[in-house]
Amino acid sequence: MDISSLARHNISKMQAYSSGKSEFGGVADIYLDTNENPFGDGIVNRYPDPLQRKLLERIAVIKSAQFATDLSSDNLALGNGSDEIIDMLVRIFCSPGTDALVHTPPTFGMYQVVADLNDIEAVSVPLDADFDLDVDGILDHNGRANLLFLCSPNNPTGNSMSHDRLEKIITAWQGIVVLDEAYIDFCAEKSFVPRLAEYPHLAILQTFSKAWGMAGVRLGFCIAGEQIISLLRKVKMPYNIDALKARFVMERIREVSQFQVEVGQILAERKRMQSELTRFALRIFPTDANFLLVQFADGDRVYRHLLDHGVVVRNFSAHPRLPGCLRITIGTVEENDRVLKLLSELT
Ligand SMILES: *Cc1c(COP(=O)(O)O)cnc(C)c1O
Repeated sequence: MDISSLARHNISKMQAYSSGKSEFGGVADIYLDTNENPFGDGIVNRYPDPLQRKLLERIAVIKSAQFATDLSSDNLALGNGSDEIIDMLVRIFCSPGTDALVHTPPTFGMYQVVADLNDIEAVSVPLDADFDLDVDGILDHNGRANLLFLCSPNNPTGNSMSHDRLEKIITAWQGIVVLDEAYIDFCAEKSFVPRLAEYPHLAILQTFSKAWGMAGVRLGFCIAGEQIISLLRKVKMPYNIDALKARFVMERIREVSQFQVEVGQILAERKRMQSELTRFALRIFPTDANFLLVQFADGDRVYRHLLDHGVVVRNFSAHPRLPGCLRITIGTVEENDRVLKLLSELT
């Protein structure tokens, strides 16, 4: 598949900005090439590496191990949160005012927002009654919509899409498929990363915001074939990932053992909450993520009661597909205990 023919014409033919640091990426004694202030620690006063190659190489190593596959830094592009990459992909592959993307509500709200922001029609193909993908409904738009957003595990429902349906859709789709795996660290065996080589039109999004505990730092990344990655590198702002962010994340991901311990604790607490919450809920939906979608007889009442006592969860009870539903993130043991105590007071 020729990916560049799917990109907007102006983007295929444009020249990327050539920064000082991209023209000379080597090592010198004295840097007088980019109008920096020479006084400083050499990190804050200097422009960062435009690609953050060291960070890319480290992420490639971690992700290759995590998904038992062989990724190189040429399979990775970084963004200020995966939100930024969602916007970049829409700008690369959809022309304002004429093109469309497909998304599958109830799902992550950013796909609609970024479509609106870029004047792209967002075509909804709702998830079915089990919150799984409507294969035929999606493929009805094949060849007409440039971009397809899939989210697995899905936010706010928590479930993974069935592997067979994902495979069928990704194989058949003639445009770009964006598979948002923001929660994949909680169910790594379900990732499509090991299948990347088969699908040059697949852009997988992951993030350090959820399982990795760095939502405040804003670092997300796209894992894809080299054609999609080179387009992302072409359109990104020259120094989109700053030196402090790169340094902080490098430090934090040097050791993956802490990450593994935390994910294990969150999964254990998720299991406990799933069983404890049955006492109060009408329904607890299946989840592969670090949150539970829980249906209550009166979701608003539960939401207000929790809030009155200092606990905020996400209220989806007015959503037509999610009546009475709250999305509850898994917290620490003490935090989860407090939720359970508050719920027991209410009934
Ligand atoms: C949280 C979330 C993101 C956003 O990730 P950032 O890297 O923090 O921008 C993307 N997709 C889904 C489905 C999410 O839930």
